[in-house]
Amino acid sequence: MTERYRNFIGGKWVDARSKKTFQSLSPSNLDDVVGEFAASGPEDVEAAVQAAKKAFTTWRKTPAPKRAEYVYRAGELLRERKEEIAREMTREMGKVLKEARGDVQEGIDTAYHHAGEGRRLFGFTTPSELADKFAMAIRQPVGVAGLITPWNFPLAIPTWKMFPALVAGNTVILKPASDTPNVARLLVKVMEDAGIPPGVVNFVTGSGGEAGMPIVTHPDVRVISFTGSVEVGREINGAAARMMKRTCCELGGKNAIIVMDDADIDLLVDGVCWGAFGTTGQRCTATSRVIVHTKAHDEFMQKFTSRARGLKLGDGRDESVDVGPVVNAGRVKAIHEYVEIGKKEAKCVLGGSPATEGTLKKGAFYQPTIFDGVKPTHRIAKEEIFGPVLSVIACDSLENAIAIANDVEFGLSSSIYTSDITAAFRAIEDLETGIVYVNAPTIGAEAHLPFGGWKNTGNGHREGAHTIYDVFCEWKTVYVDYSGRLQRAQIDNVEHTKKKK
Ligand code: NDP
Repeated sequence: MTERYRNFIGGKWVDARSKKTFQSLSPSNLDDVVGEFAASGPEDVEAAVQAAKKAFTTWRKTPAPKRAEYVYRAGELLRERKEEIAREMTREMGKVLKEARGDVQEGIDTAYHHAGEGRRLFGFTTPSELADKFAMAIRQPVGVAGLITPWNFPLAIPTWKMFPALVAGNTVILKPASDTPNVARLLVKVMEDAGIPPGVVNFVTGSGGEAGMPIVTHPDVRVISFTGSVEVGREINGAAARMMKRTCCELGGKNAIIVMDDADIDLLVDGVCWGAFGTTGQRCTATSRVIVHTKAHDEFMQKFTSRARGLKLGDGRDESVDVGPVVNAGRVKAIHEYVEIGKKEAKCVLGGSPATEGTLKKGAFYQPTIFDGVKPTHRIAKEEIFGPVLSVIACDSLENAIAIANDVEFGLSSSIYTSDITAAFRAIEDLETGIVYVNAPTIGAEAHLPFGGWKNTGNGHREGAHTIYDVFCEWKTVYVDYSGRLQRAQIDNVEHTKKKK
């Protein structure tokens, strides 16, 4: 019997008003139904917004260090439930167990980081230009926050958004990806068990069109944080901008590793395997291009293809498996369409088709795939594929490599492997990405550093670190004049200067 799960609105678990549901399936075995979830619509969003609005009046008055204590308790509960949530994650979206544990760990790290921020939430003071006048800028919450999240980091990404939003004093509505409602539900259960007051955290499952867009366009939702595709990001950003809402979009990537001729090839092979095929290539920071110096090309290709050939595919709950499934059957088809395009453009040296041997045919598996001889202008070198597909492009100099790396619409993450400190710093300076790695692959963000990208990867905001508070806070500038007379900024200031002359 399939378990049926509900929305969480105003502190209560409730069905969608329509009573409609949808199923979440395991990509390792598409016959395995993880659960049935509320197929919510605008009326459920309305209820969630009203609950969040009501709760905001008291939550915003709760001191930030107290708000942060709930987040700290959530971190403690995530730590206790790490293994249980990781196993549910592997079942629901496929990433191998050790990576699922890492996903939960990122949520724990994020909780502890933002729990600390509750005792900082720094504004600033600065001298006034006038005597007997005090000037400061403080942060205040925006209001009700809509959080729309993807399936590839089904625990970590909701925590990146929810924890700082709460510490800043906002109340939230979380709409998770329809591929991973169960992991998001487990996070919301953690918040409930941490004692979060009713209405501060609300949870609405359902499709992007029926449950996501009504959050974006609701006039009482004042800030939107979204992670997902460029297409949907554009749509959300456009709709929210017309309503003058602040919106944080974290979108795609076409991340490159540059390999110089002095690179440590064994270290590189470890890095590219992890960067390209970790999470089955479904990270926004995944390595999808290697731009390799012609002098290093042959050794790299020989060692790398031999390593990649040995990767074991399967259900990620088996600890011996290296690469899990992709998130659903639709993604297998979408990835294969790109691979077919790639076969016309370049040379496929490994993989190139869905993986269907034995029990794999029950799930959504794709073979790790490598293209060699890719030109920077090819579609597989330019467009985000979001699967286990790597394009290898040759270069003949650092300048050439950086130009190729930058010649895409995205700018999330990049990397250079070299033993030359000058080349490393040139790359750090000239790569047009929000994240740069030296002698490490393009993946592996840490909770206390800014995360986000340039160009079409986003709209200029950064998640992670204290930088996220620019999304979830309004600035309030405060002047206190204790002179006992009318002081006119600029006007009196200028006269004062004149008098001195
Ligand atoms: P989407 O951008 O379609 O979905 C991300 C989230 O947005 C989900 O919660 C989704 O809901 C919701 N959504 C979808 N349409 C709307 C809408 N019109 N209004 C409001 N919310 C909406 O990503 P996909 O999951 O379909 O993945 C497609 C591609 O997106 C990937 O191949 C990859 O290129 C990119 N992607 C990037 C990620 C990143 O980390 N930057 C993460 C995931 C995907 P629902 O699930 O119900 O459709």
